[in-house]
Amino acid sequence: MIERLVGFDTTSRESNLALIDFVRNYLDDHGVRSELVFDAERRKANLFATIGPQDRGGIMLSGHSDVVPVDGQDWASDPFGVAARDDRLYGRGTSDMKSFIAVALAAVPEFIAAGSRTPIHIALTYDEEVGCIGVRGLIERLRNAPVRPTLCIIGEPTLMQPVVAHKGKRSLRCRVHGLESHSALSHEGVNAVEIASDIVAQIRRMAKRKRAEGPYDPGFSPPYTTIHTGTIAGGTALNIVPRECRFDFEIRHLPVDDPETLKAELARHADAILPEMHALSPRTGIEFEEFNAIPALSTEADSEVARLAQSLTGANSVGKVSFGTEGGLYQQAGIPTVICGPGSIEQAHRPNEWIALDQIRQCEAFVHRLADRLRRRTDA
Ligand SMILES: [Zn+2]
Repeated sequence: MIERLVGFDTTSRESNLALIDFVRNYLDDHGVRSELVFDAERRKANLFATIGPQDRGGIMLSGHSDVVPVDGQDWASDPFGVAARDDRLYGRGTSDMKSFIAVALAAVPEFIAAGSRTPIHIALTYDEEVGCIGVRGLIERLRNAPVRPTLCIIGEPTLMQPVVAHKGKRSLRCRVHGLESHSALSHEGVNAVEIASDIVAQIRRMAKRKRAEGPYDPGFSPPYTTIHTGTIAGGTALNIVPRECRFDFEIRHLPVDDPETLKAELARHADAILPEMHALSPRTGIEFEEFNAIPALSTEADSEVARLAQSLTGANSVGKVSFGTEGGLYQQAGIPTVICGPGSIEQAHRPNEWIALDQIRQCEAFVHRLADRLRRRTDA
């Protein structure tokens, strides 16, 4: 099953429908009906399926179907094939996160045989890697459904350790509109690059302050909110005072930290620069746009879903991670969520991505225990 799933090139820019069709047919063959939630162009779809009673909420196993690009990466084997070497499987998505989906799908006959009164839901999403886009349509569909999953396990790579929290992320763009002039007459222009640099420097100061003063949560690495500028573009020629400059920055915040406060602080900094810009032209200005937001995940360590994940893995503690997932969005929609899946985030997104066979065995043990538990609930 891992081989089949890795074989579909589901890089986020591509359609994922071939993979979704394959999964839908597979579920059909086992008598499990699935529902698709398409994007606006019907090029991509989320899949949602329920094994067992349809009239009540159950345990959702969720994973994203898309993978990050392999462009410019040096791969020793075909990234869209599985190469087995040294007790590892190599291929794009082996860790992030097709092995989890494959193990869950392979367990479908077992889930059916368990004949449980608690349903298992399988959710596959698209465009997770480009900002958790696809899952939002699925959540909308679940919000309007008569029943929704009572808890969710997302199989992102955590080395099969239950994870109850991750940071939130805001992706922002700043556009500075200046005023062009000959650089010999720079006093007549508004230099968009320099003003952008001023704001970037403020972002850097805020990032340093977060690092120096917290708040801190030692469960995360690093244990504080980070802010950084990722790209910048501006100006046309050295002898022209640049009119436009644009840069993208992000805030990755602890669940306890409020990104709105940081955004407001930056907006105040920008506002303070405006008078000197407007003195030369009222048409100059500074704009901020938030183009993506992923809420933080923060599930109680003694919640039902966290205890379930612990009992299925045998772990006696829960962890926190710094990478974002769809979990924050599920939690926001009222579905308690933990992250627990095979493989390591260390291998994700890299050339020669791999997963250890032992991780796959642990994931198999996890779904066997889940099926056992469902069976016992039926017997009870
Ligand atoms: Zn992932």
